[in-house]
Amino acid sequence: MQKMAKKCVFLDRDGVLIEDVGYLKNPENIIIMENSFGALRTLKDAGFLLIIVTNQAGVSKGLLSVEEVGKVNKKLLSIYELNGIHIDDLYFCPHHKDGTVEPYNISCSCRKPETGMVDRGIEKFDIDVKNSFMVGDKDSDILLAKNSGMKSFYIKNDMYEHDKNIIPDYTVSSLKEAAEIISSL
Ligand SMILES: [Mg+2]
Ligand SMILES: [Zn+2]
Repeated sequence: MQKMAKKCVFLDRDGVLIEDVGYLKNPENIIIMENSFGALRTLKDAGFLLIIVTNQAGVSKGLLSVEEVGKVNKKLLSIYELNGIHIDDLYFCPHHKDGTVEPYNISCSCRKPETGMVDRGIEKFDIDVKNSFMVGDKDSDILLAKNSGMKSFYIKNDMYEHDKNIIPDYTVSSLKEAAEIISSL
């Protein structure tokens, strides 16, 4: 039998799974989006891998450490695991070309909308990118989806400016709404 490539939902972290509080250092300060539990279960039940891809340029700016980002990520994954939701992987980009902290102050190929993090997931899990999705709350998430050849879900918000010329495949009010659409396609 031919092995089927897997489909995946790539998820932004801040503003999608947890409140975007900016440069989150302390796992105790994670505010998880309550509707994310049901949404992620819906996606898992529909057969999707779940991979988190998050820009954390605060590392390059000296505002938080790689270790602090790692602790927050580990805590987030453990909260989901305790609720029966396995996140298949998580990648973060600590870089920014205008950063001050070496070796992170570089222009990299993993900072969204560049595709490095998604490429890593595709390679590791043999992902069928054309049948995969990106859910995020910034233009860089929409552009990442376009650059990778995925469909994009943009979660409407007032926190970040949205360029009307950058058009997502779907505009939704929450991850829950995105999950309902994805699972019905
Ligand atoms: Mg975000
Ligand atoms: Zn990077």
